[in-house]
Amino acid sequence: MSKPRVAVYKMSSCAGCQLEILNLEPILLDLLGTVELSYFVMARRENEPGPYDIGLVEGAITCGEEIERLKKARQECHLLVALGSCACYGGLPSIKNWQPQRVVESRVYDNLAAIHSTTAYGIDYYVPVDAYLKGCPVSREELLDFIKSTLLGVRPYLRPHSVCVECKLHENVCLFVTDGAICLGPVTTAGCGALCPSRGKPCDGCRGPANDANTVSLAQTMVSYGLHHSDIARYFRKFAGMTPEFSKGAEAV
Ligand code: SF4
Ligand code: SF4
Repeated sequence: MSKPRVAVYKMSSCAGCQLEILNLEPILLDLLGTVELSYFVMARRENEPGPYDIGLVEGAITCGEEIERLKKARQECHLLVALGSCACYGGLPSIKNWQPQRVVESRVYDNLAAIHSTTAYGIDYYVPVDAYLKGCPVSREELLDFIKSTLLGVRPYLRPHSVCVECKLHENVCLFVTDGAICLGPVTTAGCGALCPSRGKPCDGCRGPANDANTVSLAQTMVSYGLHHSDIARYFRKFAGMTPEFSKGAEAV
């Protein structure tokens, strides 16, 4: 039986999620025994044309050229997967959405005539998406879990709870209650193992909203703790401000 063919596409991104695929180094050869990495410009000198069984799309969509490439990717892939926070809901590139487009562009470019960027969206704004692998960068464990589940034909494990739960499992001291830090752990999807709070850093919400996240309540509680309105709004907009849940949190203060 032929191996499933995998394609990795890059849109507007830092390439950190693609790098995480290469960082699977200790098991990359095992992985290549089960799937064929047919299209991966960052890793292959020569790439093969579609169709592909699985397409992993990294990056937000921020210009017309990317919309066209994304639509082509959708056509040539059986399963299309959003790889990382940028592709899932805009991620860091979506920070620019809260300022006028020309103001943002003029901070980076001298000649704006050649710039044709648009509002940054996750890929499901333009095409149907079959799975979301969240995180900035994507979790290697979840990526492997997804590939294994796909090969076995079973549903991957989806975590319904928040980062707060993982923090409690690690017996971390709550940074919000004890330090008065803005921490989005209570409303952010678990799966990173509470990576940041376990190292004394609050959660920035890179994995986006957890199921039933009450972001309005968290934002208002933060205000009652004396935290600054604009700081709270900035946290909610850092990675997933384009999601309805985090958008509500930002607007509640
Ligand atoms: S999700 Fe983070 S690591 Fe991945 S491409 Fe976007 S900015 Fe880079
Ligand atoms: S703790 Fe929060 S910001 Fe840190 S990796 Fe996990 S979800 Fe992302």
